[in-house]
Amino acid sequence: MKSYIAKNLVNALEVLNKDECEIVAGGTDMLIQNRSHTGMSIGYKTNVLYISLIKELDYIKEDSHYIYIGATTKLESILKNKITPIILKKIIHEMASPAIRHTATLIGNIANASPAGDSIVGLYALNAKVRCQCINGERIVPLHKFIRGVRIIDLKFNEMITEVIIPKNDFSSIAFKKVAPRKSDAISKMSFVGLLKIEDDLLLDLRIALGAVYITVVRNKDIESKYIGKNIKELKENIDNILKDYEPLIKPIDDQRSNKEYRKKVALNLIKDFLLNV
Ligand SMILES: Cc1cc2nc3c(=O)[nH]c(=O)nc-3n(C[C@H](O)[C@H](O)[C@H](O)COP(=O)(O)OP(=O)(O)OC[C@H]3O[C@@H](n4cnc5c(N)ncnc54)[C@H](O)[C@@H]3O)c2cc1C
Repeated sequence: MKSYIAKNLVNALEVLNKDECEIVAGGTDMLIQNRSHTGMSIGYKTNVLYISLIKELDYIKEDSHYIYIGATTKLESILKNKITPIILKKIIHEMASPAIRHTATLIGNIANASPAGDSIVGLYALNAKVRCQCINGERIVPLHKFIRGVRIIDLKFNEMITEVIIPKNDFSSIAFKKVAPRKSDAISKMSFVGLLKIEDDLLLDLRIALGAVYITVVRNKDIESKYIGKNIKELKENIDNILKDYEPLIKPIDDQRSNKEYRKKVALNLIKDFLLNV
């Protein structure tokens, strides 16, 4: 097993092109997944490429349409930056603890592809995309296509994610609810993001994303678009129909954190609560 420390992006892509490696950014998931006995060093079973020293990927920047967040940008920097979308700030504020947030990256949370990954729920709702680069070029993939299942992502052996791209948008109502045993440093039992835009009493945009109730985040644009163009009264009259639409999509599992009945009930209640409070 070899370990590489990339000094810059080209260096990282060259390493990935010649040797299959697991990427380590902040390492907050990687260390847990590869831990060995107390007092023993980390038991990586593969080659590893450390990328956290790549300064050129430590940024949050914007143009008129998008916000761009680099692969080595820490969660705490994203939380503190004024151009970060408010919904993403709300989510990161409830992720882990300040110590972990000073080490962990947003892209690590995405690439870990856990159904309980908090940022992913918000990034699905924001229509985020990821830029994947290899030594020969790059491609941009919508997040909902990039994450294919529990810890399964569409990343080739010689690629890394270099940035997240978030379209800019204004919403009149935003909500994030993380259901967990305590306020911080806890993994979600389930999570909810609601984003909605109303102008002149008409619903112009509706986005609902649910975490930890299926193998990937649940978001369904067909359901959302059925209710676009309704006024607030009509939207509220349709709440039962909306819940019926989502009910079959919510297929949680029982695990050590919660059970499927609770997760489903809470998910439907959170959708209802969000729409009732418009
Ligand atoms: C105490 C504690 C509390 C936590 N609380 C939360 C919480 O509340 N909510 C939550 O969602 N998570 C939580 N986590 C999980 C973890 O902190 C997050 O998932 C974090 O964002 C991972 O980022 P990282 O940079 O540390 O990733 P790493 O551990 O470095 O990597 C994670 C995965 O992403 C891959 N990867 C990293 N960067 C790239 C890249 N640029 N390109 C391709 N693949 C890449 C790695 O190969 C690995 O598979 C917690 C972890 C701990 C230890």
